[in-house]
Amino acid sequence: MKCACRICWGDAWLLGTYGDWEDIVCLGCGRYKISKRLLAVNPGRAFDVILMRVELESWRAVHQTPIVSQSNARFTTPNSHHRLQRAFMLGPGS
Ligand SMILES: [Zn+2]
Repeated sequence: MKCACRICWGDAWLLGTYGDWEDIVCLGCGRYKISKRLLAVNPGRAFDVILMRVELESWRAVHQTPIVSQSNARFTTPNSHHRLQRAFMLGPGS
């Protein structure tokens, strides 16, 4: 089922839901599992895409499917200047 990536809001596929976990494949972020409870307790908060992708890669480096939960979720700060800088770093189309 097509859905929006929970991290970058790009095109993604929801492979399935297992208990508290959504199994998602995103064109930009790759495959990861994310806690529905995490999303429920942080309504409207935006993930820090760069930090999250670094986090996901660290799981893949040890051949594990990344899992995003309260313990490793990284959200953007309210500092708009900081956010603009990051958008610039991501480049066009991100
Ligand atoms: Zn994504």
